[in-house]
Amino acid sequence: MAKDHSSHRVNLFTESVIREMTRINNLHDGINLAQGFPDFDPPRELIDAAKTALDNGYNQYAITWGAPSLRQALAEKFRRDNAVIVDPDKHITVTCGGTEAMVSTMLAVIDPGDEVIIFEPFYENYGPDTLLCQGAPVYVKMRRQGDAFVFDPDELRRAFSKKTKAIVINTPHNPTGKVFSYDELKTIGDLCQEYDALAITDEPYEHILFDDETHHSIAALPGMGRRTITVNSLSKTYSVTGWRIGWAIALDEWITTAIRRAHDFVTVGAAAPLQEAAAAGLRFPQSYYRELAQGYTHRRDTMLSILGEMGFDYVTPKGAYYVMTGYPDCGFDDDNDFAIFLSSEIGVTPVPGRAFYHDPESGREYIRFAFPKRPETFAKVRERLSRLADYRR
Ligand code: GLN
Repeated sequence: MAKDHSSHRVNLFTESVIREMTRINNLHDGINLAQGFPDFDPPRELIDAAKTALDNGYNQYAITWGAPSLRQALAEKFRRDNAVIVDPDKHITVTCGGTEAMVSTMLAVIDPGDEVIIFEPFYENYGPDTLLCQGAPVYVKMRRQGDAFVFDPDELRRAFSKKTKAIVINTPHNPTGKVFSYDELKTIGDLCQEYDALAITDEPYEHILFDDETHHSIAALPGMGRRTITVNSLSKTYSVTGWRIGWAIALDEWITTAIRRAHDFVTVGAAAPLQEAAAAGLRFPQSYYRELAQGYTHRRDTMLSILGEMGFDYVTPKGAYYVMTGYPDCGFDDDNDFAIFLSSEIGVTPVPGRAFYHDPESGREYIRFAFPKRPETFAKVRERLSRLADYRR
């Protein structure tokens, strides 16, 4: 077939800029601070648990919506960390990563023409996920105010309408590092109830928090339990982005039934032995999570000190493992040009800000760096970025 017969649906969006930057990075043998993944090993106990599962016969399909051991561990985790009580048989769907949890959730609840409110800047997937379901994204800007990104509650209210089916929340937030406060979530939750909308909340960085920040789950807010779908994954908390184990939790049974139906035909299920290992990981002692946050606080501080030395105008992240920043004047006034320059000439690859906005122009002033890296990597980043001095205007 010579003609392009690709569907209208997939032509509504382009390829992922994050993955594109990873390819560009690899061409230049750069340091990949574009795609957010750790360059250090996951906990030994988790790897051992995966090996044990492989040796013990967990090599065929698990139950399509998740191995019982993992759903049980998730119910315990959700009660402990998120203050919500769920039935592992009725409310949990295990998926191939948070990415699949998000798109299976959208496929389950979004009809063509339904509006989905998305805060901007946003993690790349939310726009395409909505468009794959032929929903209509409605973007609400978070604007830089001093050292934080904030949304205007009146603007948010104006974005809600009779057509609003859902709002996507992501806290701690990728790419800004914002941690939504209880009051902000209350504002969002009240609007969801007023407009009979769902909250789809993506919380993979819930344990990566700095400066005594607290993570709040909108599912635990009054009136929100049954209208929230909580998406999360193993990737960030346990440094296993390649395992692709995620989940969607919804207390209203019609939602979970619908998610399971979509999930079943999209992937059948996530890797069975890794689900067994995940159950072990979810039972790690509390000290594991404290140390995780301490380790990341150190990485964040290292990254910010490098950026500060080189004159980057960053916004301090309060959680997650990214920093959104302006960039020094090296003769570029376009995020994409600067990102390509940094990758090809300096050997450190960021993501251009446009990846996180529906209108590329809005991201022009920003680039994003990911910092889940080892001290050796930071040392190289520091050394390479110091060469920017030769280019500064
Ligand atoms: N969540 C990670 C990021 O924002 C990884 C993205 C991806 O490639 N799936 O970089």
